[in-house]
Amino acid sequence: MRKKLVVGNWKMHGNRASNAALLAGLREAGPWSADVAVCVPFPYIAETALALTGQAVLFGAQDCSAHEQGAYTGEVSSAMLADLGCRYVIVGHSERRAYHAENDQLVADKAKAALAHGVTPIVCVGETLAERDAGQTESVVKRQLAAVIHTLTHCIGEIVLAYEPVWAIGTGLTASPEQAQAVHAVLRKQLQAATQKADSMRILYGGSVKPDNAVQLFGMPDIDGGLIGGAALKAADFGAICRAAN
Ligand code: PEP
Repeated sequence: MRKKLVVGNWKMHGNRASNAALLAGLREAGPWSADVAVCVPFPYIAETALALTGQAVLFGAQDCSAHEQGAYTGEVSSAMLADLGCRYVIVGHSERRAYHAENDQLVADKAKAALAHGVTPIVCVGETLAERDAGQTESVVKRQLAAVIHTLTHCIGEIVLAYEPVWAIGTGLTASPEQAQAVHAVLRKQLQAATQKADSMRILYGGSVKPDNAVQLFGMPDIDGGLIGGAALKAADFGAICRAAN
């Protein structure tokens, strides 16, 4: 039995005051029986850590460098994230793939760097609308995951995977529970071929998850929780989604 996991992706939103209010709201909204985490912008990690002291809510970042350390201006290493107490880091989010030209190998290298420092990478895969319409959903997500499997080899069982159809992110369009389940099953099968841990690995769904669709999505056999963008910015909505994963 896999324990559900719900992760909020704050993206580039918030400020110190609004973050404090959101985290206070989360403290009120819990506890939940699912694991819950928030991935916050780099500058707010330390304050988030402080605000969540003694709380069950975990925290993390939205990206990390593939490099260990050195002359990489503007980059943040996974060692730094570990130093701040981050449990998770999102890698390969479609916004980074699209706006920062991150390719499958770079995403895999970032996942490897994170694991090397004990930070669990939440590896995102997902197809665009054009790829779905062209019948390429399966081949795209399998290609994206294959790079990570190839790079992590025996450590692949340590990641969290997130299926995030690009066409559903921030658009209000959600994959139906059946559409999402079909892709999750494909991904689980690919993991099963790579590791004996596949059945205990968590595969999250992300893409316009809201309180009113979360129960159906999380009820599917291979959907082990969610990666939540817009709805993670409202404590009541995020709290309700976390409850749906109970
Ligand atoms: C995301 O950014 O990972 C995401 C799923 O966003 P949203 O929930 O807003 O679609």
